[in-house]
Amino acid sequence: MDRIHPDAVNVRSGHYIGGAYIDDQAAMEVRRPSDGKAYAGLPVADEAMVDRAVQDAWNAFKTSDWAQRAPRERARVMRRWAELIEADAANLAPLETVGSTRPIRDALAWDVPFTAEGIRFFAEFADKHGGDVAATRTDTLGMTIAEPYGVIGAIAPWNFPLVMASWKIAPALAAGNAVVLKPSELTPFSVLRLAELAVQAGMPPGIFNVVQGDGAVTGDALVRHPKIAKVTFTGSTRTGTAIMAACAHSGTKPVTLELGGKSPQVVFGDAPDLDRTARTIAGAIAGNAGQVCVAGSRLIVQRGAADRLVSGIVAAFAALKAGHTWEGDTTLPPIIRASDALRIDGIVQRTVAAGASLVCGGRLLQVAGEGGYYEPTLLAGVHGEMEAVHDEIFGPVLTLQVFDDEEEALALADHPSYGLAAGVHTADLGRALRCVRRIEAGTVWVNRYGRSNDFVIPTGGYKRSGLGKDLGRQAFEANLRFKSVLIDFAG
Ligand code: NAD
Repeated sequence: MDRIHPDAVNVRSGHYIGGAYIDDQAAMEVRRPSDGKAYAGLPVADEAMVDRAVQDAWNAFKTSDWAQRAPRERARVMRRWAELIEADAANLAPLETVGSTRPIRDALAWDVPFTAEGIRFFAEFADKHGGDVAATRTDTLGMTIAEPYGVIGAIAPWNFPLVMASWKIAPALAAGNAVVLKPSELTPFSVLRLAELAVQAGMPPGIFNVVQGDGAVTGDALVRHPKIAKVTFTGSTRTGTAIMAACAHSGTKPVTLELGGKSPQVVFGDAPDLDRTARTIAGAIAGNAGQVCVAGSRLIVQRGAADRLVSGIVAAFAALKAGHTWEGDTTLPPIIRASDALRIDGIVQRTVAAGASLVCGGRLLQVAGEGGYYEPTLLAGVHGEMEAVHDEIFGPVLTLQVFDDEEEALALADHPSYGLAAGVHTADLGRALRCVRRIEAGTVWVNRYGRSNDFVIPTGGYKRSGLGKDLGRQAFEANLRFKSVLIDFAG
């Protein structure tokens, strides 16, 4: 599929509760990031609608056999679900593409299959875990048994709508929980199709529900609902902080938080292949137009390698093609909203006014329609207190800092509050491992930048970048609680 026609994509709005669409009065307009056109209305679930979804989920958790059935049965349903998602790619990918910043080619090649495979990955855990038998007196049996929480509230961001949602819901469901998901109000529709397909695959109605709305009304009501036993959230640090406080006030609920970042890419002069490294670095900040939590937004390079690296990055930026997500050759997608493109430009211009210099970029781009696009930008002459170096921009803006030795590189790599990811490029194994140990981040990549298809490697932040993990065994276990049992059989 090389290009799609955006107006031909069939969009179904509404909530999805108890295995059926629930129509509700549209309270917001949803716009296509590519051209700014309003293409559907969105209801905002109020407290009563959120209550209905959570109660339905609770009833399904209690009365369907989802939690009680043999775990392999749950796994089988989830595997079938993954197959249906893959088979539905011709519907699902355009739905994702029209409403988000994901180009059609990427949605087909990555977002949809990666969503399906993530569901399979967690399905495999369903019967491959257990509790513990404790070392007690021989006339007692002490053990811990793993149990689902009940109903989990999941809140997702807009930057990879299907994939981010799947990382929240798949481990929760595989562990036997019911889920109520609130997608971002900016990208709300593709997950509805996921919910439909789950029921088609054999998941009991009510086990996976979607409520639509904004954060202040719907998200807050979901987090605070007394029957939500745990919250799993991906989004900004600011929202994550508010959600953590709401969880504390509404029942000391456990919470998993995947938050923002300002990740460094550290390049030593002996990096194995500087030209390839330059392409990696450019891709790590320009992919999805920089709207990636782990975007490598701070380049920290050893003096002797700086010139060659910079020319490689500038060339890689220049080769990108800005365009609508529905065009087959788009490699630089839009910024989620035109107002966010202006926000990004404001940060760049203020940083230049504070003394930084533009190596390339620094302009809003014109693409037909009212969407917001931003030129991949490299800012030099910066220091750690400048806005573009300090704040998460969530756009294709890279800052450049130069160092002379390892100690200085590590000092520059450290961010006062974020610790999501980092990249280290060097051919020296000892140096790579020293950096891995000393960089305070939840993920460190060496001689690469970005995730692989190894779902088993967890992802999550240090410092204010988060709490807990998505992916990996850890994400599955975070959806279970453990009961201690002591049995006295002395007679
Ligand atoms: P956001 O925090 O604005 O919104 C995220 C979600 O939270 C949305 O669904 C929103 O409606 C909801 N929300 C907002 N206020 C709420 C409240 N008070 N209570 C409950 N829900 C509320 O984030 P965003 O703009 O959608 O996403 C971008 C951010 O997400 C960036 O900071 C990015 O780094 C982060 N992110 C992190 C990861 C990760 O794995 N660490 C992955 C993707 C995105």
